[in-house]
Parts: sequence; C-alpha cells; structure tokens
Amino acid sequence: MFHFGRKIYADNNATTPVGKQARKAMTAVLTGLQANPSTPYRDGRLAAEVLDAARRDLGAVLNVPPGTIVFTSGATESNNHVRAIAPLLPPDKRLIVHSPMEHPAMLEPLRLLEKEGFVLVAAKPDRQGRIGVPDIREVWDDRVGLLVMMAANNETGTLYDVAGFAKFARARGALLFSDMVQALGKTPVDLRALGVDYASFSAHKIRGPKGVGALYVRDGAPYAPFMAGGGQEDGRRAGTEALHNIAGFAAAAREVPGMLAGGGRLRELRDLFVRGLREIMPEAAVNSPLGTDCQPGTVSLTLPGHDNAFLLGQLDFHGISVAAGSACATGANEPSHVLLAMGLSPVEARSTLRLSFGHDFSVRDLDYLLQVFKIVLKGDEKNEIGVVRPAELTDAFLSQKDLAVVHIKRFPRLPGPTPLPGSRVVALGDRKAWDDLEVPRKLLLTCEVGYDAPIIGWSLRKRGVRNISVLALGLWGLKLARPDLWARLSAMREEEEKRAAEGA
Ligand code: PLP
Repeated sequence: MFHFGRKIYADNNATTPVGKQARKAMTAVLTGLQANPSTPYRDGRLAAEVLDAARRDLGAVLNVPPGTIVFTSGATESNNHVRAIAPLLPPDKRLIVHSPMEHPAMLEPLRLLEKEGFVLVAAKPDRQGRIGVPDIREVWDDRVGLLVMMAANNETGTLYDVAGFAKFARARGALLFSDMVQALGKTPVDLRALGVDYASFSAHKIRGPKGVGALYVRDGAPYAPFMAGGGQEDGRRAGTEALHNIAGFAAAAREVPGMLAGGGRLRELRDLFVRGLREIMPEAAVNSPLGTDCQPGTVSLTLPGHDNAFLLGQLDFHGISVAAGSACATGANEPSHVLLAMGLSPVEARSTLRLSFGHDFSVRDLDYLLQVFKIVLKGDEKNEIGVVRPAELTDAFLSQKDLAVVHIKRFPRLPGPTPLPGSRVVALGDRKAWDDLEVPRKLLLTCEVGYDAPIIGWSLRKRGVRNISVLALGLWGLKLARPDLWARLSAMREEEEKRAAEGA
C-alpha cells in the first residue's frame, strides 16, 4: 500500500519544525556562550551582546524600538501579563472587551481577572469567526479600559483588523492587548503602524524553538511585571534569559520576510486542497474565511457524519498529522469553544478538522493528501476499526470470552471515569506499554471522551492488530447515554478493584 513511510505534517498552527537558521544560532550559543548575560565579566558581556542583538532583530522585524521587547518563556507567559496590566486601569475602567475565540492562554488569565472583580464582555463573531470594529462598537461602553483581541485565530486562520481595533480603543481611552502569535510570518506585522499597546509572540510558531516568546509593550503603556524576582529584561521580566532560545527566536524572526513571500503559494495550495476536498465531499463546510482575511495555509473543515477523533487516527495511520477543531485536550467533554462561539453545534464541532500547511508543503503532498482523504471519507477502510456506540454496548458484547478491554488514561494523575470491568488501564503516553501490548483476539479500547481510543486504535492497526473496536464518546459519553448500565458496570469494577487490593 502507498501509505507506509509517507509523512505529511499539516499541523503548523500547533507548532512548526525548527528551521536551519534557528538551529545554527542556538547551537552557537549552546556550544560557545555559557555565561549569564547579567554578569559583568567578558563572557557575560558577550552573552549580553547576543541578547541585545536578538532584541534589535526582533524589534526590526516588528518595526518597534528594541527596548519595547520583553523576552518571555512563550506566548502563554506573555498573555498572562494581562493579569498584571489590568489592575493598573483606572477604577472606572474595569470592563474588558474580548474575543470569545481567544486561545486558552488568554481566556484563562481573563477568567482569573473576572474572579478578581473585572467584568468581561465578549464580542460576537460570525460563522467564519470574523469580528470587526462594528462588532466591538456593539458591546462597548464608557467603562471599557482594555480591549483584548487576537490578530489571527489558531483554529480557523481568521485575521482581524488590529489597526482598526487600536484606533477605536485609543479614541475611547482604552488599551489594546493583542495575541499576535498566529499572525507573525503569515501576515505583515508592523506594530508601529498597527498602534497596539501590548502584543504577544511565540518562537515555535515561526520555526523557532519552543519555550521562548516575547511581549511587546508600547513605550509609555502602563506596565507591571508579571513575575517577581531579579532585574532581568530591564526589570520587566525576572529570570535568567534562555539565551540559546532567544538567539533561535531572533534567527527565526529574521526569516519572516521569506515566510510572507511564500504566502501566496501556500494560499494557492490550500485553496486547491479545499477544491479537491469539496469534489470528494460536496457537503463539507469550510469554517475559515479563505480570503485575504485568512492565514494563507490554514483551513478548518466540518465533515458531516465523521467523528474528528476517528479521522485524526485514520489520517495518522496514513502518516498525515492534522488537528481536530474540537480539541478535547483538557479531557473535558467539550467541543472547541472557538467553533461553538462561531455558531457550530457540538456535533459539528466534533466533525471538524484543522489543517495548517507549512512552507515545505508540495504539490506532491497535496496529491497524496487528497488521495488519502478520498479513502478516509469515501472508502470502506474505516470499517477496519469497529465503533461501538453507547447504545450498542451490551452484556453479551462485554462477556465475549476472547475480548480484552483496554482503557486509555490521558492524565494518569487526574481522576477519570471508572473503567469497564475487566479493563486493563494504560496511560496514553506510555509508549512501552502500547509497544508491549499483547495482541488479543478481540480488543475494545475505551477512553474518557472518545477522543483517544480511535487514535490509539489506528496506531495499533498500523502495527497489524486486527479486530479492534473503540467505544464512541468514551466512558463519560456512556455515563450520559446509559446511566443505569454505567452505574452497574462501575459498581462491578469497584468490586473488582477492592478484591484486587485485598488480594495484594
Ligand atoms: N496564543 C495562540 C493564538 C496560540 O496559538 C498559542 C499556541 O498554541 C499560544 C498563544 C501559546 O503559545 P506558547 O505555546 O508559546 O505558550
């Protein structure tokens, strides 16, 4: 079969591979510059020079003075500065208008501010995730002190009118904090022209290393450090700078003009993919705007009748990495808040995939991708893994003599649903346990919300395991759909665990 060995990475909004220039810059620091940039002797001064050069380079790419750039551990930390900045707002300006489509790295700090007495007001996006100045005006009032609007959405690729937001906010005496993580390298980011007060960036989205980012603070904008400690970063961010990461970040940022130049090609390939996919499945819905108000390489697609976890596993089987629009990453049985905010139903959100192509994506890759999508959406390969819906789970099914049940635990330290009686529990990340798994005659995989079982199922199928079934919607889904059966099976399992503990 043509699938073995071929790999396509279409999840560049999650992270990007580290580029050659970034690797080179990092290696130079790791091998030749061991001193702390805050130390006064020669090696320390050399390290400080690298730090200054990185700040200058990033400042030049963003068209702002180097002194406005604060290096952080990533955009999550940069965004968390909103918690230190909001308390500086005047007492009569404690309303925060925001996009409901922000990344959790912004939404969660905002929720903490809400607990501290700030009032959050969400603007309303349209079906493609667009929010414009008129939508902000709709929810505005005189008490708004801060507008929090991302520049590009990570799930749909939607780009926003940041310059318009900045102008609108400034005219009303409010500040603008923009998460620009997904914009850099995909659309021109000229901070001076845009007029934002604060902006967040992350190196690993532009072929830099993970664990480093930046916060831009406009000269004169109110600022308080988020973390207490030493006086690094001019007293604005405590902690010894990760110089190798910062050098890698600056090297990656210097490649931004090349990334922008490649945007047109990427857009064409993305649009060809969408066209090809619509030929395979005309009822597929495109959730991204796809026009100039969209990142060039991103598309979010809803594929009615298909479960995204199952698709993710099956595409992975063919060497294709994509993201599910509905990221059940927190283990909660909740579809993506971004898609729900855009008006998708929970079922639609669970049928949604995000593809984000990188600059190495080729016409050959596109061809392969469409061939695989045809198999996945139209072929009968999907029947190679059985799906047991909660309504189909019977005592007869569970008491099959040659059936082994394996429950996948995503977060081993967190409490989860009680596994089915007779289950073996294996952590999702326990690669050795999965490699060593004795192949039973029949295997039922269960997980918490129905997300992990198909992914593990398809990876076992790739290893040649047959007769695999997965429990759709996971054990939490079973609990909701069949509470009586759930209670009985849970009691059996608890009895089983008690006996095992007594025997031990
Ligand atoms: N903001 C957006 C829009 C993102 O896409 C991400 C990463 O997924 C983050 C913030 C968090 O960035 P980091 O991984 O650098 O903490």
